[in-house]
Amino acid sequence: LRMISSEPLGNEPVSDEELRPQALDGFIGQPTLKAQLQLFLDAARKRSVPPDHILMAGPPGLGKTTLAMIVANELQVPIRVTSGPAIQHAGDLASILSSLGEGEVLFIDEIHRLPRPAEELLYIAMEDFRVDVMVGKGPGASSIPLTLPRFTVIGATTREGMLPSPLRARFGFTAHLDFYPHEELERLIERSAGVLGINLGKGSAQQLSLRSRGTPRIANRLLRRVRDWAIVHDFDEIEPKDVQDALSLYQIDSEGLDRLDLAVLNAIVKNFDGGPVGLNNLSAMVGEESETVETVCEPYLVREGFLVRTPKGRVATEKAWQHLGLIPPVDVNK
Ligand code: ADP
Repeated sequence: LRMISSEPLGNEPVSDEELRPQALDGFIGQPTLKAQLQLFLDAARKRSVPPDHILMAGPPGLGKTTLAMIVANELQVPIRVTSGPAIQHAGDLASILSSLGEGEVLFIDEIHRLPRPAEELLYIAMEDFRVDVMVGKGPGASSIPLTLPRFTVIGATTREGMLPSPLRARFGFTAHLDFYPHEELERLIERSAGVLGINLGKGSAQQLSLRSRGTPRIANRLLRRVRDWAIVHDFDEIEPKDVQDALSLYQIDSEGLDRLDLAVLNAIVKNFDGGPVGLNNLSAMVGEESETVETVCEPYLVREGFLVRTPKGRVATEKAWQHLGLIPPVDVNK
């Protein structure tokens, strides 16, 4: 599930695919993580066993799904894709698990949203490669243990803290994805422009990278919007000025903050005097689900120093007030 409501530029699930690198080599940035993962995969290959289960944690759009697909590609095994919310009953998961072949990868997006019974079934399956299949109903029902071939679960989550510890403990490796520095996004944008046949002039990739919220998915999306702009205006080459003009039309500001980011900052500053304000009040004020505010919006605002989380709630920083063109109160949190 993509958090559609927070994406003012629309959702483009199909186009995510065409820009997805197939091998670890093509995955841009995150050098430490790539080296760890490479070692992990090489060791499994040398031992001729499927690798341990892997957890990918981090905000949306940073490459969790992409890495999962790369792992399966590198291991040359099929990947099955599902998600926490798609599994309503433990039985749904049991039937997926019992259909897996030896060494296959099962990717579970938003694994923190699995229903509790499914979660319990999953960690037994991950540990013992076994599921108990219920046969019959009511008092006569019985469970038959079914042995599974060895497989690898790759879970993705935007909220690692919500995973119960027994489940978290079953992962042999946790990959933490972080926001990308501008230089890495610049390279990613150049690569995507090459794939899509977009002619970027000098400095344009950099302009785009500065406004992409440290997020590959957003970088790719902004690149497409800028391409639309160039097509409509009959530009052969996209200059940095075109990037600025196009993105201001889409309400992406100079710091890459989008509509929701700005709504959150405005609410804290204007409705709550700069905070502290609790997540639920804040989310209600901007008309967004608190999970979206917490997982999509806040990590970037915190990381860029616009917002701090305190035990009493969220507080806007001096930088936030200034960014909104307002004078911060003297005692504002810096
Ligand atoms: P997540 O699963 O974390 O929400 P995805 O893996 O779906 O994110 O990535 C979103 C888009 O960004 C995909 O189109 C993918 O191709 C691209 N992408 C993400 N990370 C990278 C990367 N490191 N290098 C190249 N492309 C990337």
